[in-house]
Amino acid sequence: MPIQVQKPKKPRIIIPGTHYHRVRKTVQMICFCIFVTLPLFDIMRIDLPRQRFYFFGAELWISEFSIVFLTLMFLWILIAAMAMIYGRFWCGYLCPQMIFSETANNLEKAIIRFVNKRLPNAGPQLRRVIAAILFGLVLLPASIFVTFVFVSYFVQPIDLFHRLLSLDIRTAGGIVGASVTLVTFLDFALLRQRFCTAICPYGYLQNMLKDKHTLLVHFHDPNEECIKCNKCVRACPMGIDIRKSSHQLECTHCAECIDACSGILGKLGTHTVIQYAWGDSGSNTQAPANWFRRIGLRDGKRVAVLALLLVYATGLSIAISVRQPVLLRIMPDRITLYSVAADGKVHNRFRMLASNRGRIPASISLSVAGLKDATVEEIEEHRTLEPGETIQQHFDVVAPASSLHGGINRMRILADVTPGKTGQQFS
Ligand code: SF4
Ligand code: SF4
Repeated sequence: MPIQVQKPKKPRIIIPGTHYHRVRKTVQMICFCIFVTLPLFDIMRIDLPRQRFYFFGAELWISEFSIVFLTLMFLWILIAAMAMIYGRFWCGYLCPQMIFSETANNLEKAIIRFVNKRLPNAGPQLRRVIAAILFGLVLLPASIFVTFVFVSYFVQPIDLFHRLLSLDIRTAGGIVGASVTLVTFLDFALLRQRFCTAICPYGYLQNMLKDKHTLLVHFHDPNEECIKCNKCVRACPMGIDIRKSSHQLECTHCAECIDACSGILGKLGTHTVIQYAWGDSGSNTQAPANWFRRIGLRDGKRVAVLALLLVYATGLSIAISVRQPVLLRIMPDRITLYSVAADGKVHNRFRMLASNRGRIPASISLSVAGLKDATVEEIEEHRTLEPGETIQQHFDVVAPASSLHGGINRMRILADVTPGKTGQQFS
């Protein structure tokens, strides 16, 4: 009987480092999915042609000033709070420009490797040209896709898709789409991370908002453990040396240098000399501290900013939750004060303005309360509102003269709106 001998398992070698890199790539993948999902599923879009603002299931009209204002203030304070507390966390982990730039770098390197492997006998010049052509061929559809998603933040994706299929480069929308595709292509072909330091205004803004407690990537080597291997410089996607300063404009706090340093010094049995720290004090993020200090709430200014953020978030959620899908206004028509018909009934004319801001048809029904035998008589038949439709309709409140007394007769017009509020009152 044959005896099966199991091969001894190789001990797993754990290479120190690569910790932040893995976290960053996972976060970037999630961000990419969010970037694509938000406009394509109407979760977030500033729809310019329709003048609508889609925000987490709500279809807001640009004219809804309070909600648009609260949303913009909330986003602005969120951006400012993030820059103040976590420095350039956005750039290193969340920014689509950075995600696509790094992907373009990796793609280019992979294509160069592929060409070198497949065409070992071709001259270096020819291999470079072939690699550049292949890279361009992959980058073009990728740029069209990225542009499609980006423009979907401003135009309905289905409209955009039809324009794309018809290769529209004659209308204003088509020219804008083609220009953005060209800019995206050139950005990822030529600029990539240079965009962050030369063009992006958010990078400059972050540098203005940071202070002595802002999260930094910090070189701290009191025991002179740095072996000057320059691995941190080679790993840096921005091509800088973090040992010179923690405040270089190019540094996006991506932590690739931390992984590189912990990888090399970890093998030598010591710890990295580059780390995330709260400000120049070098206060390590791993150091024991109260939970609120560990998440970056290190002074009153930060607590105040977060409290303000909470106020705007609460205001925004209340404004969205009490919002009615149908906006209804009823005003007396002052051109004719009142009129008396041949049958002796008194007619009072009103004007109704209704906008359906929802996504399904809405119906409106009017009635009168507080005035005996009064009814609503509509002049124009138009009570069902399609999504996005606005109507202006005149109607009469009619009452027999016998139920009126001299002077002012008070009454209430009741509006039942489906879907929406029943019994909205207009006095
Ligand atoms: S990787 Fe670490 S040890 Fe090597 S040069 Fe950079 S800081 Fe020094
Ligand atoms: S210095 Fe370090 S944290 Fe800054 S960009 Fe380079 S690798 Fe990223």
